[in-house]
Amino acid sequence: MNILLLGSGGREHALALKMSQSTLCGQLFIAPGNAGTAQCGTNINMGVSDFEKIKAFCLENAIDLVLPGSEEALVNGIYDYFKSEPALQHIPVMGPSKEGAQLEGSKAYAKLFMQRHHIPTAAYREFNADNYEAGVAYLQQHSLPIVLKADGLAAGKGVVIATSHEEALAEFEQMIKSAKFGDASKTVVVEQFLTGIELSVFALTDGHSYQVLPEAKDYKRIGEGDQGLNTGGMGAVSPVPFADAVFMKKVEDQVIRPTIEGLSKEGIIYHGFVFFGLINVGGEPFVIEYNCRMGDPETEVVMPRLKNDLLELFNAVTAGKLSEQTIYADARAASTVMLVSKGYPEAYEKNKVISGIPAPTRDQVVFHAGTRQDGTNVLSNGGRVLSVTSLAADLSLALAHSVQTAEQISFEGKVYRRDIGYEFI
Ligand code: AMP
Repeated sequence: MNILLLGSGGREHALALKMSQSTLCGQLFIAPGNAGTAQCGTNINMGVSDFEKIKAFCLENAIDLVLPGSEEALVNGIYDYFKSEPALQHIPVMGPSKEGAQLEGSKAYAKLFMQRHHIPTAAYREFNADNYEAGVAYLQQHSLPIVLKADGLAAGKGVVIATSHEEALAEFEQMIKSAKFGDASKTVVVEQFLTGIELSVFALTDGHSYQVLPEAKDYKRIGEGDQGLNTGGMGAVSPVPFADAVFMKKVEDQVIRPTIEGLSKEGIIYHGFVFFGLINVGGEPFVIEYNCRMGDPETEVVMPRLKNDLLELFNAVTAGKLSEQTIYADARAASTVMLVSKGYPEAYEKNKVISGIPAPTRDQVVFHAGTRQDGTNVLSNGGRVLSVTSLAADLSLALAHSVQTAEQISFEGKVYRRDIGYEFI
């Protein structure tokens, strides 16, 4: 099978490595890719939403499967584009239709979907310019803290947890009246605050049946002890100790199955990964968000623990025979530690020469996130630069191995957390 993978982060390197290990893998192309994906296949200078160019590339290179790594191409309708082009109809796109991608693209859409299918989630109301005054009145009597969410995609910045009514009202006004997040905040979801520990659960679906992949927990804050600004993710662990059989059965019965059945009943086409952002409130799972693709950095711990051949799973999705598959997870624990550029998630410098990246072993892989090859040098090319994943008998050992390697790798302004998974160690 010739594969086209779209994206350029650590998630895409982890997916590229996994697919390249499959006996079914023919040529693997990554657009645009990074210095790490170039070791698994061929990088192609092409935008993930440049559909015309992607079409020409797929036809010229006899591509058999397209895997969008991030939500961008999916929310922009790449699935529907392939179905609408006669020359492309035979090429499966691993992801939802544009409508299915709305589970991630619109918080209000996701909330209504959960309501229709009785999926546990925080109580909420939805507001826009038309019912703005009702929103103000609602906020004034709402208990604190108050969660405000821009409806659309806002580069991970669209959620504000207000600790006072003044802050909530100011934020509400900025989102709706001053278009703080552009069109994305024309509609705002105001939500009950839930207290608990978060985790990420992943399923692969063929639209009717599903398989649950290893779960993970990511660490979003820049600083140790979960202090400081939110980032794209500073590390992740898998498995998540509190996600035991009892909890995961609740997740499956109350969240995963109703979601897949709901999509199927409503005729929403969805073939690919579903990411459930969950919070464990006193032993009960609640959905905080859906994503229509894998997470980053969660993929960097989920893929190394997945023992199945990923392309075999994708073929089962395409054939509608996913129910015949069984998922096998490595019993070892995985921890990934992200090396980021000084200043991230605010302004940072790129083009720093990176040295000391060890070759992959059975127990460790350094995934590239924001890197690029320049002659014989690997240069930093983003806020998140490398993700060091280790597998070991327990989370504590896995973290220790990742931190040891993080120390050995050098580039100017390297920053990382040494406490990934701290609450389980
Ligand atoms: P989201 O973009 O919906 O995942 O929200 C971003 C982050 O905000 C989540 O990862 C949570 O940490 C937090 N969050 C979102 N919704 C809630 C909620 N209802 N209660 C508590 N925290 C929340």
